[in-house]
Amino acid sequence: NFKAILIEDTDAGAVAALKEITIEDLPDRDVLVEVRYSSLNYKDGLALGGNRSKVARTLPMVGGIDLAGTVVESRSPEWKAGDQVLVNGWGMSESNWGGYSMYQRVDPGWLVRLPDAFTPQQAMAIGTAGYTAALCVNALEKWGALPDGGGDVLVTGAAGGVGSVAIALLAAQGQRVTASTGRADSHDYLRGLGAHATLDRNELSSKGRPLQKERWSCAIDSVGSSTLVNVLAQTAYGGAVAACGLAGGPDLPGTVLPHILRGVALLGVDSVMAPMPLREAAWARLARDLKPELLADMTRVEPMSQIIDQAGEILAGRVQGRVVVDVTR
Ligand code: NAP
Repeated sequence: NFKAILIEDTDAGAVAALKEITIEDLPDRDVLVEVRYSSLNYKDGLALGGNRSKVARTLPMVGGIDLAGTVVESRSPEWKAGDQVLVNGWGMSESNWGGYSMYQRVDPGWLVRLPDAFTPQQAMAIGTAGYTAALCVNALEKWGALPDGGGDVLVTGAAGGVGSVAIALLAAQGQRVTASTGRADSHDYLRGLGAHATLDRNELSSKGRPLQKERWSCAIDSVGSSTLVNVLAQTAYGGAVAACGLAGGPDLPGTVLPHILRGVALLGVDSVMAPMPLREAAWARLARDLKPELLADMTRVEPMSQIIDQAGEILAGRVQGRVVVDVTR
């Protein structure tokens, strides 16, 4: 027997709880992983604490959209016992059992080899949030929107998981990063990660003019809604915004004017079903550019037994940086 966080159908609706399960309970997939760490992302908060049914589409479900650990058994020639691996997304905690479990079976095509630069704990300090930040930076670079030699770049939701890693990656690349945050007590933290300036998120959250002063060469947005609309309206001619989140809402109450008058591009970024070459490129950027001491500054480790309580905290926007989940405790 081992511990897992199960989301189950009850009279009170879908409820998450720490349970004991066995290897026989796990789904029939080709690679058995002994999970060492998982992580807490906004979506995990939704799955455990909020709109549970909107994330976990089949019940019972083991939560956790991330995992890192060691292959124990493999029916696939690509992987063998002892390989150190990680998985991000692929519907874990939605339609496939996830990482809040001391063991999990997964498909061979979901696995990424743990980069030499990282321990399993560091890989989960990055987790889906950090890997998504890297997908965003890569998307901006591929579009040609990351200024050579540095320019003004905005990161919204700055003190959250995506935002924190995005700042560190952009600063490592020589960009002048402005961090938009609602937390005045996070300013020192954000500067420590490499932010050049901070901006009160209230300045971006209410309805603004469809075209505003051009302030940013490019931006990474994890907030959505009117914040994203204002970011687009402030992006300079030919720039781009990589959008990955909806912490401020899923709507997009704007106009086409930034796109048709300034050629501004809105680059959508998805981490869950991202094809393997994009994943490998994101992890390669993280291994190259993310300084271990900055990763440590943005991370704390919590036992799995505490994670259901933390779900409400991340939804309330009170989690700074990243939370690693120790599935053995
Ligand atoms: P997180 O750690 O909770 O960060 C979100 C941050 O957004 C908060 O720390 C807060 O930053 C800001 N925020 C929260 N509520 C807000 C509001 N009402 N208005 C404006 N800002 C608000 O979450 P995360 O794990 O980094 O994820 C961030 C977002 O990206 C989520 O929506 C998540 O679902 C999405 N995401 C999407 C993908 C994908 O595949 N597309 C992957 C990962 C994450 P401040 O305190 O600094 O203001």
